[in-house]
Parts: sequence; C-alpha cells; structure tokens
Amino acid sequence: MACVSFPYDAPVSQTLFDRASLVTPGGVNSPVRAFRAVGGTPRFMVSGSGPYLTDADGREYVDLVCSWGPMILGHSHPEVIAAVQEAVARGTSFGTPGEGEVALAEEIVARIEPVEQVRLVSSGTEATMSAIRLARGFTGRAKVVKFAGCYHGHVDALLVAAGSGVATFGLPDTPGVTGAQAGDTIVLPYNDLDAVREAFAAHPGEIACVITEASPGNMGVVPPLDGFNAGLKELCAANGALYISDEVMTGFRTSKAGWFGVDGVRPDLMTFGKVMGGGFPAAAFGGRADVMAHLAPVGPVYQAGTLSGNPIATAAGLAQLRLLDDAAYAKVDAVSAEIRGLVSEALAKEGVAHTVQAASNMFSVFFTDRPVRNYEDAKQQEAFRFTAFFHSLLSQGVYLPPSAFESWFVSTAHDTQAVERIAAALPAAARAASEATA
Ligand code: PLP
Repeated sequence: MACVSFPYDAPVSQTLFDRASLVTPGGVNSPVRAFRAVGGTPRFMVSGSGPYLTDADGREYVDLVCSWGPMILGHSHPEVIAAVQEAVARGTSFGTPGEGEVALAEEIVARIEPVEQVRLVSSGTEATMSAIRLARGFTGRAKVVKFAGCYHGHVDALLVAAGSGVATFGLPDTPGVTGAQAGDTIVLPYNDLDAVREAFAAHPGEIACVITEASPGNMGVVPPLDGFNAGLKELCAANGALYISDEVMTGFRTSKAGWFGVDGVRPDLMTFGKVMGGGFPAAAFGGRADVMAHLAPVGPVYQAGTLSGNPIATAAGLAQLRLLDDAAYAKVDAVSAEIRGLVSEALAKEGVAHTVQAASNMFSVFFTDRPVRNYEDAKQQEAFRFTAFFHSLLSQGVYLPPSAFESWFVSTAHDTQAVERIAAALPAAARAASEATA
C-alpha cells in the first residue's frame, strides 16, 4: 500500500470501529466498508440528506457512493420517506401477497420490455443465484459462463477467479466454495467474443447460460465494446443457452430501462436490485414468460423468501421509481458529466495519467492512460495513486468509494453547491495523487 499519512482523525468513528471489531469480523457487515484497500478509519455514518452524509464525528461529506447505487434521488428524499412512513404504519411484514409487490412488479414490467414476468427477492445475490438455478432448470444443463471482473453477488458458483487463457474452468475464489460448486463455472475475459465462441465449441450442449453485468461496474466502469452484448445474445441463441443480463447495478440507473434502455439487446433473463429498493432490501429477477413459468409454484424450479416483496421495501422502491422520469435521468447524467470533467481536468493539470470511463451516469477513474476493456487492463492501473487521491478528498469532505475498482455514483440531489465542494477539493487531491509513491 502507498505510504499515506492520515492527517485528520475520526475519534468517534474509531471508537465505534473498535467496538464493532470485537463483535463483527473486521468490524463491518460487507468487506469493502472496512477501508482495507485504502487504509484508515472507516467512517460510521449517522445521517444522510440529499447529496450529503454526516458521520459520527459530525463531519459532512459530499457522497459519491450513494449506498453503492441505490440512492439515485439522494438521501432522505421526502417522497420516499413519506411512502415508507405510510407503509410502516400499516405493519412491517405479513408473509402473504400484498398490493405493493404487484405494483412494483407492474412498474418493472412496464419499464423493461424483455421482462414479461418478474419475481421479487431481497438482495442482488439472491436474484443472480435464482436466475442461474432457473437457467439450469430450464435448459437441463449445468455449466455457466461468467466474465472475469464481473461481480454478481456472493453466489458460490460465481465467486470464481479469472483463469488465464480461454475457457478456463473457475477455481474457487474463496475458501468455503468447493471445487464442485465452482467446477461448472467457466470464467472468460470480458469483452472477448472469441473466447465465448470457443467455450461454446468446447462444451456443446453443456452451457446453461452466460451471465454478464449489463455494463460492468465492479472492476471500475468498463462498458461493453460495441456489439459485445449483441454477440453474447446471438451466441447464446445459436447454442440453446440463456443470456442473463445482470442489471443489479445498472437497472433503473443508467436509464429509465437500465442498460437495456441504452443498448436494446434483449436478454432471456435479467436481474435487478439497488435502485429498485429505494434504499431497502428489494431485488428481482425476471424475463421471458416461458422461462419464468418453470419457477415454483407454477413449475418445478424452487425459489422462495420469507421477506420477499416486503411491504416497506416495495413502497420505498415504487416511490423512487415513480420519481425517476426522463428529467431525473437527464439531471443525473448531466451532473455525472460535470464531475467527470472536473476530475479529469484536475488530474491533467497535475500530469497524472488517468482514464475516466463512463456508462451513462456511472463512472470511475482509472490511474492509467490506457483504455480499460477488461479486468486485466483494470489491474494495470497505479492504484496507489487512488489511495492518496481518496484520502485527500475524504479529509476535505468528499466521500469516494474506498477502492480503485468501484463505480462512483451521483444523484439528482447533487446540486451546484455539492459540485462546487468537489471542485474545490480536487486540486489538492490531484496533487496528492501525483506525489504518491508505490
Ligand atoms: N450483481 C451486481 C452487478 C452487483 O453490483 C451486485 C452488488 O454490488 C450484486 C449483483 C449483488 O447484490 P447484493 O449486494 O444486493 O447481494
């Protein structure tokens, strides 16, 4: 790790982190929150309002994480909060069907044309896990193709590292995932259609599905090259496999209809999460009605959830989606473009090699001057510069994702004042990046 000093402290966050570390592994409930990639004390947040977060030490930050995507209207949007308060007053969970989940499903089906039917779940991980099970049940095949650098949640079969070469069988990426669980997963380099073609040729009649992030954001933002998603769709169709587009991150964010609204490639199955839950645990998978008909209780593929379609989560998600009209997306896209421009300008002024990549309003900064088309490219960047950049911004009240391999997120609430705060902090951060050493 780069030699970065932390000239500012966060005593209350530090005390909370010490307490948390005694009772929770690493002090966090999701690893990236622990700041391991950048060092220092994770900030314990106590409130959020519009584009700002306030930590336990009373410091305010412009938030460029937005809860990793969901908070596209900013924090504590009054209409979302009102919908939640109205729903919570009627009870928190019934374990029965309810109108809220019908309305949310109708909204999803109305927005995203390839989704003829949808099933609600509670996390993106559940959505991708269930979509894979369904694809296997539907096709009667075992193997799954995924791409190195694409994250689909912590599903056993999808937690596999990139192998080198084409059609490399996945090795488990973590202890606890057995060879058997990962052995049917084929990991290929992203943006490489020839590798997919060769995998189908090597395993005729064995591949149930290809799952891909619609536009990846989990190795930093690495959009599909022109024709890549369409090529995947074609290869799947030609080989009797399903094309699963994971839109947990891009869904309802990159446009009204997510990445499908951008590239128009029609998946067989899609997965959603984040924005559709309005900050609550709601996610979904859906797609072709003939495939979804294989799901219990209509078909034989089992899938269930005690809190699926939870009334508070569906009320929050529905309220958020209904506010996300064309004007809202135009606003998020514009503020994203403005911030990207400012970041690039500041880094260029200090002579820092960088590439800013965007997928609609999602974006990230790679500390390399070469375009990043896959995970191998992403790993070539000078991540130590990000560490210095991150801490300089944090100390000046700008909260970035604590890793060089994550997308940055903005919201409709990022107004001129928030952008000005970022602009004021960037020169020193760019200088810190330029002076950083490995
Ligand atoms: N798929 C993608 C593309 C994601 O980005 C994520 C989470 O970041 C997931 C799936 C898993 O979602 P969750 O964290 O809700 O389980």
